[in-house]
Amino acid sequence: MRGHLFYSDCEPMKQDTLITTAGRDPESNHGIVNPPVYHASTIISSTLAEFRELRTRRGEKDVFTYGRHGTPTHQALETAAAALLGGDRSVCLGSGLAAINAAMLAFLRSGDHVLMVDTVYGPTRGFCDNFLGRFGVETTYYDPTIGADIKDLIQGNTKIVYMESPGSLTFELQDVRVIADEAHKRDCVVMIDDTWSSGVFFKPFEHGVDVSVIAATKYIVGHSDVMMGIITTTDEYWERIKRSAAALGASSGPDDVYLALRGMRTIGVRMRQHHENGLKLAQWLEERPEVDRVLHPALSSNPHNELWKRDFTGACGLFGVVLKPYPEVALAAMLDGLELYGMGASWGGFESLILLTNPASTRTVAKDQWEKDGPTLRIHAGLEDPEDLIADLKKGFERLNANS
Ligand SMILES: *Cc1c(COP(=O)(O)O)cnc(C)c1O
Repeated sequence: MRGHLFYSDCEPMKQDTLITTAGRDPESNHGIVNPPVYHASTIISSTLAEFRELRTRRGEKDVFTYGRHGTPTHQALETAAAALLGGDRSVCLGSGLAAINAAMLAFLRSGDHVLMVDTVYGPTRGFCDNFLGRFGVETTYYDPTIGADIKDLIQGNTKIVYMESPGSLTFELQDVRVIADEAHKRDCVVMIDDTWSSGVFFKPFEHGVDVSVIAATKYIVGHSDVMMGIITTTDEYWERIKRSAAALGASSGPDDVYLALRGMRTIGVRMRQHHENGLKLAQWLEERPEVDRVLHPALSSNPHNELWKRDFTGACGLFGVVLKPYPEVALAAMLDGLELYGMGASWGGFESLILLTNPASTRTVAKDQWEKDGPTLRIHAGLEDPEDLIADLKKGFERLNANS
């Protein structure tokens, strides 16, 4: 059974057991719990026959030929990530965006067509428009709520149907199963950016996905100190993807890989706390007079809540808040004075963040809808005490009101 580790030869492991167990091999390392950090470029063979043989066996377990293709440290993270995501194999790369690029380029050639969700992470859109476009690959953006109607947009040359659920900045959910089924009927590869749940609350391969990409920079690393991307896929596509990553030179350093694996060992407990803190903030924000609506799929008021309950077992700490109209000076007074929320890109670390976003600027399908909205915030609920986080926001709203 794909993605399940077993103990006592029969019982499939539950998720927390799998997170703490997968990819470990203390027996081949003096009993030491964590893998050593192998710093390697050159890997030496003792005979010509061995040198040749290893190259024919590239990609097999415990076969290492050159630093770019990975070390035992990489193998440990990749094994653990594949188990968490429920895919067959993973490959780690130097950033989330590198994972996205390498995964897409594994399947595309000039003249191909990509169906891309309108709510995709901005730099992924940039890669499609500014980069793939120059190489003769056309991208069509579709509404995240399209469902089975995706079939009307699939062309003879459509290679990839790409999802991100929930979407960046506005957190719409997609019906992954329905879209994947329609895409597969027409021989498209189904890809998803699953950074929001990072494999913990949503299992992409149980919903028909072929390739999952994750910015491990966010929750897998979990401590805001490493850039890392992970592609997970099926045996069917793994070789193509590994070859694409290698051809692009998109490798990752062993120290970063080690930190990512170390972060991953606690992702289960961290995500439960992010879920709880995020939901507490979201529920409090919903009651505030300054707030127009909260974009959090786990809220019962959210239009995507039914889909979230069907497909997800939890929520991370990242969500959106649409405010009523306020002038820039009031927003600055609110945000500049916050003590517990950092203002900066990225998310998924232990600390809370807040960002003023502009969804309309990165949308082409549902642009109008977002243009008529008030200012939109993106909040990352960290692991601080939620009462302190709420108190800080409350003072922020006082400054917002005093300056408008
Ligand atoms: C941050 C992010 C990425 C890119 O990851 P990097 O590691 O910053 O390159 C991709 N997708 C989503 C949804 C993200 O939030």
